[in-house]
Amino acid sequence: MRRRHPLQTAMKNLLNVWKPRSLRFRLTLGIATVSAVGLGGVAVWLGWTMESILISAHKDNVLYIAERMPNNIEIYQQMYPQPQALQKAVANMSRDNVFLWIENQQGKIIAQTGGLEELQPLPVSPKTANFPLPGISISEVNGRYWILCANPLSVNNQRIGELYIAQDISADQMMFLQVIRNLGVATVIAIGGMTVAGGIYIKRSLRPLQRICQLTESISAEHLGNTRIHLKQAPTEVKQLAERFDEMLLRLHRSWEQQRQFVSNVSHELRTPLTIVSGYLQSVQRRGSNLNEVQREALAMASSETDRTVQLLADLLTLARVDNGQMQFQLERVCLNEFVEQTIGLAEQYHDRPIHYKPLSHEVFVQVDRNRLKQVLLNLIDNAIKYSEPEQPITLSVEQKDEMGIISVRDRGMGIPLAQQTRIFERFYRVDEARSRSTGGTGLGLSIVKTLVEGMKGEIHVSSQLGKGTTFTVSFPIVD
Ligand code: ADP
Repeated sequence: MRRRHPLQTAMKNLLNVWKPRSLRFRLTLGIATVSAVGLGGVAVWLGWTMESILISAHKDNVLYIAERMPNNIEIYQQMYPQPQALQKAVANMSRDNVFLWIENQQGKIIAQTGGLEELQPLPVSPKTANFPLPGISISEVNGRYWILCANPLSVNNQRIGELYIAQDISADQMMFLQVIRNLGVATVIAIGGMTVAGGIYIKRSLRPLQRICQLTESISAEHLGNTRIHLKQAPTEVKQLAERFDEMLLRLHRSWEQQRQFVSNVSHELRTPLTIVSGYLQSVQRRGSNLNEVQREALAMASSETDRTVQLLADLLTLARVDNGQMQFQLERVCLNEFVEQTIGLAEQYHDRPIHYKPLSHEVFVQVDRNRLKQVLLNLIDNAIKYSEPEQPITLSVEQKDEMGIISVRDRGMGIPLAQQTRIFERFYRVDEARSRSTGGTGLGLSIVKTLVEGMKGEIHVSSQLGKGTTFTVSFPIVD
């Protein structure tokens, strides 16, 4: 067998818990998306605003230097010769992290932060960075962040050259990036937290729906009348749904009752006249000595179909009584060994098939309704005879097992396919319609048998093998 990769197994488990088509998954995904877009948007806007404020503060500083420089030079020129005045003005305007220098029109540096004598190499220059001329820009050079400014410099309408200003804003920028990183982490945690909290909240909110789902699974026609969905602390919409559902159950229950009543009434009304018709047909058959062969056959056919219909109506009436709760069981202590022997004697009066009996050495007593159990056994014997070849024997036995008295009815007939074994107890279910029709059944026999057995607190089981035969076992708790 191919082994699954642990990741595949984990994925499968996750999909089982989080069914992608479920409402819970979709709502949680919705919350995750909305919080990602909302919080992400706020974080981006916050970052962008902070950067704008930071940069505009630095820009103002650089622009101030660029604006003041000609005035400063003018003042120093009144006291010093021009080269010295330029250097003094540059030194005066220099600040921490702000580098200034002036180039003459030939591109030669004529004043610089730190003084020309020491001529410190500048950290940025027009060769290494892209200075906008004229203007102001921000760029990254060798891993550091700079505000760069270059302006033409004129004093007393006399062009001196270009003034370059470079302010190192790396420390502030690093701090800003750190804040952005923290903001990003906080945003991701907040989105995760909101998704988890939302998921839990949605799961709780959907609980009433799950309860409705569980309840609907257990609803059957028999329990329509007393099944109601009681929801505590459910959202209004779900409560309304449950109320509508209850109303629907009530309507279904009423129409189901009407249908039962109708079947019961029709069966009752038809059975009496049909029984009379059957009696007349039999009497005509017996007395009609002047009937020809064709007439006799027609009468025999009409008589057997009428009997079949009378039996069907009797079965329907029995089921209607059970459904309406009108079936009464006269439970009494019965010795199974003796009872089965008597029923076999009765069955043998109607059938010429040999019925074998395996009695138990000791007596077994159960609490049953004699007439109903007789009906059950005769029905099972009848089926065993119908669905096996005429030469095959039928075997009945009585056993005791685990405090249960068990009667088995076994035939060596055609058997029942495994897939159908659970369905044969359903009303009107017949394994093979064509085959069953020739045997004259109605498909109600086993459902009546099961209802009667369960009404007497017993159980019925079937085991069968195609072509080999079928065994029905009926068991009841033993009494002393
Ligand atoms: P039916 O009136 O058709 O006999 P039942 O409810 O008694 O109706 O039985 C339902 C179906 O179960 C039958 O149609 C038949 O196909 C199958 N069945 C019942 N008993 C046996 C049996 N002993 N052997 C084979 N099939 C059986």
